[in-house]
Amino acid sequence: MEMPMVLDGVAIAAEIKAEVAVEVRELAARGIRPGLAAVLVGAGLSGAGASEIYVRSKVRTCGELGIYSEMLTPPESVTTDELLALVDELNGRDEIDGILIQLPLPGHVTTKRLLEAVAPEKDVDGFHPVNVGRLQSGQPGLQPCTPAGVMEMLKRSGISVAGKNAVVVGRSDIVGKPMAMLLLHGSATVTICHSKTADLAAFTQQADILVAAIGRAGFVTEDMVKPGAVVIDVGINRVTDERKVAEFFGDDAGRKGTFAKRGSVVVGDVHPEAYRASGAYTPVPGGVGALTIAMLMSNTVKAAKLRRG
Ligand code: NAP
Repeated sequence: MEMPMVLDGVAIAAEIKAEVAVEVRELAARGIRPGLAAVLVGAGLSGAGASEIYVRSKVRTCGELGIYSEMLTPPESVTTDELLALVDELNGRDEIDGILIQLPLPGHVTTKRLLEAVAPEKDVDGFHPVNVGRLQSGQPGLQPCTPAGVMEMLKRSGISVAGKNAVVVGRSDIVGKPMAMLLLHGSATVTICHSKTADLAAFTQQADILVAAIGRAGFVTEDMVKPGAVVIDVGINRVTDERKVAEFFGDDAGRKGTFAKRGSVVVGDVHPEAYRASGAYTPVPGGVGALTIAMLMSNTVKAAKLRRG
């Protein structure tokens, strides 16, 4: 069997970021500097580790591309009303083109109300109902970064979507649902699976394009993959059990080293052995995750152009 193609998210993200940097320079020549405000609740708390890493790397990437950024860090105890007031203030500031509220929020905050408070034209995550509706009805708007990144990756890798059987495992508002909608707009025949799907493997085995957005390490096994399929692994799962690491990666020296150094390794929703059956796959890390931030940068510039350009 032929070796599968590795879809290099890091390289594609670098390409997208270089294009965004050019757009930023063009805007600068017209006196416009795109700006992003990132709201991170409860920074510095132990449980907030992953979110804080994500937000910091978003802010850092803004700096690299010449995008203005601000990180706002209300305390864990902040109320929904206080956050609504903060969002309202950001909505009103002309130099802020994108507002990002890092999820998850603490349990006492009403996430839906907050996401709906962000002005749709500044909603660079694409979570506001207006942008969800625009996506559904095929109108231009701001689209969720992770699924938009997957579509960019397919396009830039020369993988056509039209007429393919696409199976998305996962139906979250952030990944699964918008992913399915984008694939549908690309004229794939789309099936959405979830935790109540009966005989999941029977569906995944039909997939020419299989997207796993489940949140369970190594869940998609080799027998679930149609030979030659394009396998897109959205999952980011931290595995801390050494036996599990060995089960996923065998004697892989790199992963063993990472585990020895950090006490955990990141594993996707697809079992590494399942790559063998694929025609192309996204590695974890270095696949879809790398694209999400690049698409956020792209959305921020797009928002600046639409509102001020
Ligand atoms: P989520 O909100 O927890 O949704 C998970 C989905 O998987 C749900 O729809 C759930 O079904 C389904 N599911 C769970 N167990 C299943 C099973 N046994 N069989 C079939 N379906 C099952 O997660 P998410 O936010 O979509 O994220 C999914 C994964 O992607 C996570 O690992 C997350 O860390 C990662 N992620 C990565 C990026 C990136 O930048 N690469 C961005 C966002 C998320 P039900 O709806 O029936 O419960």
